[in-house]
Amino acid sequence: MEDADELLEEPLDLIADPEDPSDTGVRYLSPSSAGSFEQCPQRWKFRYLDRLPDPPGEAALAGTFAHRVLEVLLQLPSADRTPEQAKAIARDEWPSMESDPDFAQLSLDDAQARRFRWVAWSAIEGLWRLEDPARVQVQATEQVVDATLGGVPFRGIVDRLDIETDGMVVTDYKSGRVPRPRYRHGRLSQVLLYAAAVTEMLGEAPRRARLLYLGQRTIETDVTEEAVAEVVDALTTTWRDLQSSCASTAFETRTGPLCAWCPYLDQCPAGIGEVTTRHERGAVRLDAPGLAVVAAAS
Ligand code: SF4
Repeated sequence: MEDADELLEEPLDLIADPEDPSDTGVRYLSPSSAGSFEQCPQRWKFRYLDRLPDPPGEAALAGTFAHRVLEVLLQLPSADRTPEQAKAIARDEWPSMESDPDFAQLSLDDAQARRFRWVAWSAIEGLWRLEDPARVQVQATEQVVDATLGGVPFRGIVDRLDIETDGMVVTDYKSGRVPRPRYRHGRLSQVLLYAAAVTEMLGEAPRRARLLYLGQRTIETDVTEEAVAEVVDALTTTWRDLQSSCASTAFETRTGPLCAWCPYLDQCPAGIGEVTTRHERGAVRLDAPGLAVVAAAS
């Protein structure tokens, strides 16, 4: 699922002053752009400075569709938040998905389009395995947060802000696989940053930050001062490194297993070398798109 904050990035992230050649136009960090830079600064440059296309794949787009249906569902009165109503919303929303250029680019045949709808519906229906949405007290959906955290201008979109008996809860939907236990702490940093931004904006700290891996499980953490300080420190470091890379125009290539899935592999000699070496060791999944890029380059 595309993170919701990616939707606001394109028009707002890069607004450079044309009169100032030193102005990179990077006005703020969102969890998506920060995560992209941390994974690989060169990949971040391709995407956010060079603005090369990175169209979402089928799974990400199905997740985005599920996300939209759940957004509308949770805006309804609680008694109306039923699977039947979700189906009706999905039917209403389907034409706008079909007319989405990213969807058209997938060029799905009828059977593939049916599978797409099935994947999206599985994610939507998966909400009921985690909670009864009729019992959720929703304060806001798709809440834009805009705050300065540790000196860093930060923006994002919170999927849901809930009210529970002991206070607010920041909730984000995920349609990918639940990360292994050792990666879960890192995945929660996004919602902890949202919680920090909500605190700055509303003057009240959420009690918990939560990821709903649709159809699978919920991962959550208490919003403590220590947990927030840790993620804000990391954001500050990323912002400083990003500014420094922009000033020097030197962007590190941070190679690793994800190079085989990087949409910019064909423009990255370091990545091609990495995928080649990993492939020779049998360490690249055979469905990785990078294998075709490596084959074409050899
Ligand atoms: S191929 Fe790898 S090293 Fe190159 S930009 Fe992509 S992620 Fe970074």
